[in-house]
Amino acid sequence: MSTSAGGQSKRIGVFGGAFDPPHNAHVALARAALEQYDLDVLHVIPTGHAWHKARALSAPEHRLAMARLAFGNIEGVTVDARELQRPGPTFTIDTLKALQAENPGCQLYLFIGADQFATFGQWHLCREILEIAIICIADRTESALTQTEFDVYAPYNHRFFILKLPLMPVSATQIRQMLASDAATAEEAIKLVPDAVARYISHYQLYGPG
Ligand code: ATP
Repeated sequence: MSTSAGGQSKRIGVFGGAFDPPHNAHVALARAALEQYDLDVLHVIPTGHAWHKARALSAPEHRLAMARLAFGNIEGVTVDARELQRPGPTFTIDTLKALQAENPGCQLYLFIGADQFATFGQWHLCREILEIAIICIADRTESALTQTEFDVYAPYNHRFFILKLPLMPVSATQIRQMLASDAATAEEAIKLVPDAVARYISHYQLYGPG
């Protein structure tokens, strides 16, 4: 059995996203996850062809490079490219099972924003996900989550936890829109992403007006 110091189960976090681009709230979430859940490692996983995102994503190599720039210097984070390398649609359950197989006896923690939790019931094999992972949810709005929202997942309703994170009303959609706007607005957008990501976006002229 794979164990961390002290003989306890290895605590593995998973934080997936399009990261198109990764922004300051993503970084804050990753740091909070490592701290609050005492993780041995947090796998930050850029998603491949996510079945639920209608929009065409930026090229995988750009999203991976930006994720490495945003998260690579955080102690405990591994930027994990496995979903980008997997052909076809990517499902979280497959990634969780693979991590479990690689780390027998580990405890998995899946970190998602409240918008993702809202559609969790539609995720592929969501009850199987709940069997193998604890779900930690970061709120994205003022309307705090209530226990009732977890109860529909009974008997797995005890598998949900809250990740405490100050509200950061920022999204990649908003950043892409701002970058495609006038120069002054694009300047504001750049402040919402880590500096290295800002330089990368500017170097490759990503998200500019078409
Ligand atoms: P988009 O606007 O393109 O949908 P996004 O900003 O939601 O992007 P994703 O890469 O889709 O970013 O998100 C990855 C994960 O981070 C998701 O679980 C999402 O809910 C969470 N997340 C994104 N932004 C925030 C935020 N401001 N606060 C809390 N969680 C967030």
